[in-house]
Amino acid sequence: MTTFHAAVVHADRTVTYCGTVDGDHVDAVRAHAELAGAPRHVRDHPEQPGVMFVLRDDGNLDWYVPVDPPAASGGAGAGRQAGAERTTHRERTDAEEGAYPAPRAATGPDYVEGAVRFGGQAIGGAMDHPENPPRAVWHTTESPAGANFFTSMANFLISVASEPQVIYDPVTDKIGQFGPMSLSARALRNDGTRRTNREGLVCVQVEVLGHAAEPFTDNFDPASKPNFRKLLAAMRAHGIPDNWPAGEPVPTETSPMPRPRAVWQGQGGHFGHCHVPGNTHWDPGAISTGIVPGTP
Ligand SMILES: [Zn+2]
Repeated sequence: MTTFHAAVVHADRTVTYCGTVDGDHVDAVRAHAELAGAPRHVRDHPEQPGVMFVLRDDGNLDWYVPVDPPAASGGAGAGRQAGAERTTHRERTDAEEGAYPAPRAATGPDYVEGAVRFGGQAIGGAMDHPENPPRAVWHTTESPAGANFFTSMANFLISVASEPQVIYDPVTDKIGQFGPMSLSARALRNDGTRRTNREGLVCVQVEVLGHAAEPFTDNFDPASKPNFRKLLAAMRAHGIPDNWPAGEPVPTETSPMPRPRAVWQGQGGHFGHCHVPGNTHWDPGAISTGIVPGTP
């Protein structure tokens, strides 16, 4: 029987080690979390076999690590969901590569006013192709929204090194950032050797809490969401046009997704993860282009 180390990552990123538990305990935790309406949500680590996280609505993140890790086979993602980011070829930060960010040409704000700052704010670096137009990329976390899933999801994204610049909860209007908008994030896969996270003058990525199959703009009124409006204003200040150059985000996992490379590289505006070449996810779902970006 596999034995697991158990720990809790608190909302403030402090970690409490809880000792070891057996596999039956972990199986029971998973089963409870999968009950409809449970105040917790299970996510497997995208790269490390057997490593499991439980996002809790109180903002805590439970973390289970096998004492004797199984051999890495790439087959650990049995519970992985549509919007979960895989990170095998994840972006390294400029700090990790020993490089310094290049001088910035971006003109918009680095932070949405009042955004909660998570982690060390060093998730990427300078853009590779700042000569190409500015863009935004929308994702969904494939998790519950509301309560304090905002915090447990933020700490999950840090734990698996797949941070966007921005995390947003459409239920509570909470907004947070993992890094400045003028530098790159790491929620996209590369397109071959081309680093999609570093395409354009800016590439502002947003992880919205929720599911692609239930578009977050349904029953969503921007008039009552000041942080959402601030986010769109910040994007416009970076010169991101109010359009969707690759078309509207797709409505289903089986929708055609041509991911046109020339459009992605050459045009600015709003994209879904579903539009980015070299990627496979279909998020953020059929969100309303009357709301994202809407009209100023
Ligand atoms: Zn995504």
